[in-house]
Amino acid sequence: MRQIFQTPQNLIFMKLSHIEHIGIAVKDLESSIKFYEDVLGLECYAIEEVKDQKVKTAFFMLGGTKIELLESTDPEGPIGKFIDKKGEGVHHLAFAVEGIENALAVLKDKGVQLVDQQPRRGAEGLDIAFLHPKSTGGVLTELCENKNKS
Ligand code: ZN
Repeated sequence: MRQIFQTPQNLIFMKLSHIEHIGIAVKDLESSIKFYEDVLGLECYAIEEVKDQKVKTAFFMLGGTKIELLESTDPEGPIGKFIDKKGEGVHHLAFAVEGIENALAVLKDKGVQLVDQQPRRGAEGLDIAFLHPKSTGGVLTELCENKNKS
């Protein structure tokens, strides 16, 4: 007998499209920008403070992926604490997703621990949410969706 495949429910699906950005924690934004510009030859196209996250960010575009440098504006903020514990370096990986609310529901359903239960506003006006590194093999993972375009 032929097997009948049911159309999966919306909830089963989560579609990541690409690596939106890689977040890098730095002590000093200005000197880090200089490294990315003068040594790596990239161009910083935006600097933005995200008060909510106690960070100042600088963005570089490379192909379809961005590099997001993060400097803490408060030692008690997440980046301040990260640098205090681990020093400068890769902080998180961000995937672009279509339908971030749905994706969070799918992940929650699969037992992934969420840092953000609901999307919130991140740099560049994106809707973002973090997944807990305990559930993602030690990689702080961010989902983001740009609802301004499409
Ligand atoms: Zn990020």
